[in-house]
Amino acid sequence: MKLSFKIFLGICISSILAIVMVASIFVTRSFRINIDNEINRCVKEIGLMESYIEDSLDKSTAEDKTILNSYVEYYQDKNTYLAYFEGKKEICKSNDSITIKNTELLDVNSDEVLSTTQEIDGKKYLLLSTKLDNDGVLVYIRNINSIYEIRKDLIKFSVILMGVMLFIIAGIAYLIAKTLTKPLDKIQKEMIKLQNGDFNINLKETKDEFGELAKNFNKMSKEIETRNSELIEMINSKQIFIDNMSHEINTPLTLIQGYAELLEKANCTEEQKMNFLASIQDETKKINDMHKKLLLLSYKRNADLEKRNFDARKMFDKIENNICTKIQEKRLNLIIENSIVNIYGDETLIIMCVTNLINNAINASQPEKTIWIKSYEEGLKQYIHVIDEGKGIPKEHINKIIEPFYRVDKARSRQNGGAGLGLSICKSIMELHDGQLIIKSKIDEGSTFILEFPKK
Ligand code: ADP
Repeated sequence: MKLSFKIFLGICISSILAIVMVASIFVTRSFRINIDNEINRCVKEIGLMESYIEDSLDKSTAEDKTILNSYVEYYQDKNTYLAYFEGKKEICKSNDSITIKNTELLDVNSDEVLSTTQEIDGKKYLLLSTKLDNDGVLVYIRNINSIYEIRKDLIKFSVILMGVMLFIIAGIAYLIAKTLTKPLDKIQKEMIKLQNGDFNINLKETKDEFGELAKNFNKMSKEIETRNSELIEMINSKQIFIDNMSHEINTPLTLIQGYAELLEKANCTEEQKMNFLASIQDETKKINDMHKKLLLLSYKRNADLEKRNFDARKMFDKIENNICTKIQEKRLNLIIENSIVNIYGDETLIIMCVTNLINNAINASQPEKTIWIKSYEEGLKQYIHVIDEGKGIPKEHINKIIEPFYRVDKARSRQNGGAGLGLSICKSIMELHDGQLIIKSKIDEGSTFILEFPKK
């Protein structure tokens, strides 16, 4: 059963019950008041009658019954009748059709008035009895049918009123049920939109419980939208990664295949054969390098690092050792300014990171230029800067070069053996050390790569 229908039924049933209760209390109460008023009036009248009759009987010298008869007859056709009894014996009465059924009424004591009601010929009568001084019993009979008629009319009127009220209440209940459940209907509609992938949801946030629900629903849809776009972005970047990787592997493989086919040809000189073999070795080395880097990218992400405190000066000595031949070959100057004593982290990974940055600086620099390595501490952080005076990186590429396989100048980088994985590995290494890689560069002025990590 729908909530709106439940609310509608609830309002209708409770309102009708309330109206029936109020109407029945009203009808019963007004009937009781009318009956009580009638009894009071009749008690007063029978009292007066009793004193008149007793006065007349005292003064009279004539026969008592004649006086009583005249009183009794006087009340004919007035809706009020009298009857006179001596003991249980009826002496006279003003209406012959009236027979008193309740004889207990005749056992009344002096100074006492007994009352009862009786139905005669389908009409309701009120009967009161009092004892006269001569021990006779005077019975006062009053037609009270009109009071019962009023009650009947009131009941009829209440039933009609309830019918009308039922229509009005049903209308109001319908409006209330619709108004109350409107926000729920709206939420349900928005939920269906959300199910169909439409995240454009903005429910009105009122100040009631529905407003709270709408607020949470809005929040939830925003959260789902963010997560969804993150997921799509992740899937896309994974796809780009796979596309790039297959392209990068395909290039050296095609070259290897080409050299192998050339080698197969019988008319190759020995020297040519040696050159082809050297080229095959070069390309195989590239694939091998790429394979190692890819492994590092995926494996180190989950593996436990070998973090410890190590000597920064010794680390820079090792790095200098690694790259000195390349520096000399390109006739570059290398200046290392280190003020850090100890670094906390995985030494092998940090050496790999700095070496990669220096290699990139070497590739970007012209002969006779200088490459600086500056390391220092500031606050709770440690910094290693790799600064070159090279060609710089165009602005639009700065944020992209940390993506796997991204290279500014693809042909040149390939010549240098780079697959565009170095910086993304550096970034991953920094993340594993709760640090970050910051890149600053200006075309034709040079670049600065900053490794920032927390001091432990
Ligand atoms: P690669 O292995 O090809 O060097 P990287 O991820 O280390 O890959 O670098 C990505 C690209 O960023 C390089 O191909 C190069 O175009 C650019 N790059 C990196 N370092 C520098 C630098 N110091 N100066 C200019 N360009 C740079």
